[in-house]
Amino acid sequence: MFQINENYLKLPGSYLFSTIAKKVNAYTAANPSKEIIRLGIGDVTLPLAPVVIDTLHSAVDEMASAETFHGYAPDLGYEFLRNAIVEHDYKKRGADIAADEIFISDGAKSDSGNIGDIFSVNNKIAVCDPVYPVYVDTNAMAGRTGEYLVDQQKWSNVIYMPCTAETNFAPELPKETPDIIYLCFPNNPTGSTITKDELQRWVDYANKVGAVIIYDAAYEAYISEENVPHTIYECEGARTCAIELRSFSKNAGFTGTRLGFTVIPKDLKSGDVTLHSLWARRHGTKFNGAPYIIQRAGAAVYTEEGQKQTGEQIAYYMKNAKTILEGLKSAGYTVSGGVNAPYIWLKTPDKMTSWEFFDYLLEKANVVGTPGSGFGPSGEGYFRLTAFGSYENTVRALERIKAL
Ligand code: PLP
Repeated sequence: MFQINENYLKLPGSYLFSTIAKKVNAYTAANPSKEIIRLGIGDVTLPLAPVVIDTLHSAVDEMASAETFHGYAPDLGYEFLRNAIVEHDYKKRGADIAADEIFISDGAKSDSGNIGDIFSVNNKIAVCDPVYPVYVDTNAMAGRTGEYLVDQQKWSNVIYMPCTAETNFAPELPKETPDIIYLCFPNNPTGSTITKDELQRWVDYANKVGAVIIYDAAYEAYISEENVPHTIYECEGARTCAIELRSFSKNAGFTGTRLGFTVIPKDLKSGDVTLHSLWARRHGTKFNGAPYIIQRAGAAVYTEEGQKQTGEQIAYYMKNAKTILEGLKSAGYTVSGGVNAPYIWLKTPDKMTSWEFFDYLLEKANVVGTPGSGFGPSGEGYFRLTAFGSYENTVRALERIKAL
């Protein structure tokens, strides 16, 4: 008789965003005349850039004729896209990454979950707290996180690295040595970053203790400050200890179109085995690549026009971020983030819990945000607002919050 993966049963309650949706639905059902403004979900709202749409159309046309039709994509992804990535995202940053170290995929979410396949269940993970919940949840599904301790809202076998106001929302090197370290900068949900020198310290540490860093740079395109690294491979020695996750979702609006990539340098080894060879095997079999049409669209992002058009979209979101930051500050809130990331992290007033503040904002201002506690125990007492709404709604939401 078949048996289920019982690790799934250990996952706590429902997923953060389904709880939010339920609460908002209940509120709108009871208050149909109220107009809700959503500054909560991390999805983009602007349409794909014109050059991306044009490229999609012509790639679709190619599929209509036998001479230009494309079937299964190559395992690593098409060379035209991997070459564009190398030139733009790595060479330009002084980072030594080759095109055959890039694995195109259908997004950073799948990759951040699937990457665990190539690691033993016995590895101990360390995560920033708070952070994007997918790392911990997928490790829990794999049986790597021990038991869920409801009272502490923590897993027993995870090293949590608190990112609090005292540490500028950056993690400190853990006291207990981890095997796999997840770093996410610019960070979701806090919007915080670390400098190149600080990241170098993590690379040195990982090389020293024999740990691997999984570096999620999904928000790289939002970096505006000089000393913030765009890729972990700007650091010396990262080729022997780091995997990098990237996404086209937030820099070019591919959340629904799906495109991302993972970088695994060939120097990254466990004994004689390269992680590259393991992921290549996995990628070839458990295929989660992107279709030809989408990879063409991704390459269009790297053209001059693509850079200009997607750059304008990022500037639009960052204008919203500035509106939120300045609006909240003038209303007396303690806020951070919003400079190198589309996320603004605010301390809840009057010692409200994250969920109390969620209800307060929903009921009093009809604005939806995301409770910080949903991203880890150190997120309690904090709240995330995102810059992905329309400018008009962002301004209106801030007017409502300021009027509270
Ligand atoms: N990594 C982080 C830190 C994210 O916040 C998100 C989405 O919100 C993702 C990855 C998912 O990216 P993708 O849309 O490419 O799956």
